[in-house]
Amino acid sequence: MTRYISTRNKEDALSAHEAVIAGLAKDGGLYTPESIDVRISPEEILNDTYQECAEKIIGALLDDYTKEELHECVYGAYDEKFDTEEIVPLRRVRDGWLMELWHGPTSAFKDIALTILPRLLTAAYKKENRSDIVSILTATSGDTGKAALSGFADVPNTAITVFYPEIGVSPIQKKQMATSKGANVEVIAVKGNFDDCQRMVKEAVTSKEVLDACKGVTISSANSINIGRLVPQIVYYYWAYAKLVNAGEIKCGDKVNFAVPTGNFGDILAGYLAMRIGLPVNKLICASNTNNVLTDFINTGVYSLDRQFHTTMSPSMDILISSNLERLLFILSGNNDIKVSAMMDSLKQKGSYRVDDVMLKKIKENFCGYWTDEEECAVTIHDLFVEQNCLIDPHTAVGYSAMRRYQRETGDYTPCVVLSTASPYKFCKDVLSCITGEKKDDDFEAMDELAEVSGMKVPANLSELRSLEVRFTRSIAKEDGLKAIAERMRGLGNVQD
Ligand SMILES: *Cc1c(COP(=O)(O)O)cnc(C)c1O
Repeated sequence: MTRYISTRNKEDALSAHEAVIAGLAKDGGLYTPESIDVRISPEEILNDTYQECAEKIIGALLDDYTKEELHECVYGAYDEKFDTEEIVPLRRVRDGWLMELWHGPTSAFKDIALTILPRLLTAAYKKENRSDIVSILTATSGDTGKAALSGFADVPNTAITVFYPEIGVSPIQKKQMATSKGANVEVIAVKGNFDDCQRMVKEAVTSKEVLDACKGVTISSANSINIGRLVPQIVYYYWAYAKLVNAGEIKCGDKVNFAVPTGNFGDILAGYLAMRIGLPVNKLICASNTNNVLTDFINTGVYSLDRQFHTTMSPSMDILISSNLERLLFILSGNNDIKVSAMMDSLKQKGSYRVDDVMLKKIKENFCGYWTDEEECAVTIHDLFVEQNCLIDPHTAVGYSAMRRYQRETGDYTPCVVLSTASPYKFCKDVLSCITGEKKDDDFEAMDELAEVSGMKVPANLSELRSLEVRFTRSIAKEDGLKAIAERMRGLGNVQD
């Protein structure tokens, strides 16, 4: 059975379902598989449906769930909530393929993991015969929040609080969150950026003020620091590969590249895990926007926060502290918890850390980093639409542009799949202006106009937003996060009494 150990203390080991409940480790570390010895050949999943593929891959890693439990989780998550039976379609474009991960209930790739996480958590609770409330604390740069709110709404024994940066998410993202339904949900804007929100959530786990307030309440997380979110993301790497094989584009065993628009390093880490368990991958292209801390890191081995924070058209990637990188460092250092703790300490105290040459070499063997500024992102959206009649969102454009740069720079034209992470309609004002130059003040006007220009259908969950009532307007200073969390915990505890 796979043990999940904290990246900052190897002695802290849990089984898969326990790690799903815990979210973040008490020492601030991230639960990571102690050893990655399962192997899944793509041949094993070539004829599978998405759900069958998910059962195999999730089952191989979250291996203390029974087959029946996983079956229920998988089929409960990947159903008509997605607007296409194949769940994740693959689309041919001129320079590669787009893997469309945004056909779920909130039109972002986060849906793939956040439709199943609440089910994995509920199943874990049943295993333990627990009845206390799990309070999900979630920091969002825009998309996780809504996907988590949608996934956890009215799930028994859970409550969810989402923190988002007041300035920084797109107006549609904000409206999506503020109109969320469910008696157990809470949405709070923070006067700060995503990193402030994420810090709050991480600090809550060890804060005395918060823990004292938790009576009959356990804190967990829906961020990609939860292993239950990471593992379901491995599935679509295999899925896309199988599609390429079945379409005759590659032979089984051939290598492919993936270009991944990256923020918190969760999605691309799932790609790395896919590679480690047997998917033939040549390079993982880590695509960043102007917040290019990861590009610099991959090129130099120095991770430094000594830089300006930018708000961009691709807000879900406006992140300077990419949490999941910690898991990669842990794995590549041979589970060296002392070394990882020291690096994370250095990041906290000095705002930077450096990896040694051996580690940097290993990183470069598997990853390369490229970044795209706002101008090029806009040009990419424009050109794909005009030349290929393909409408993409700004995050996907950053990924596409990274793929192109990589191809031109290296001459490596290994078949490349770009992860398309959001519907263009989530960012309609920006996308419209990239295509036609038109600047609309109103989002829904931009949405209508974009639909007219492109002929592409608006996802129902986004078009219905205009008539939904706003339920959440609270906004707090970034210093008041722990107080707000403690207050919420007391409230939830009382409900239980
Ligand atoms: C979250 C998100 C990303 C970044 O994914 P990470 O796992 O945080 O690296 C990219 N694009 C979109 C649209 C997202 O919502």
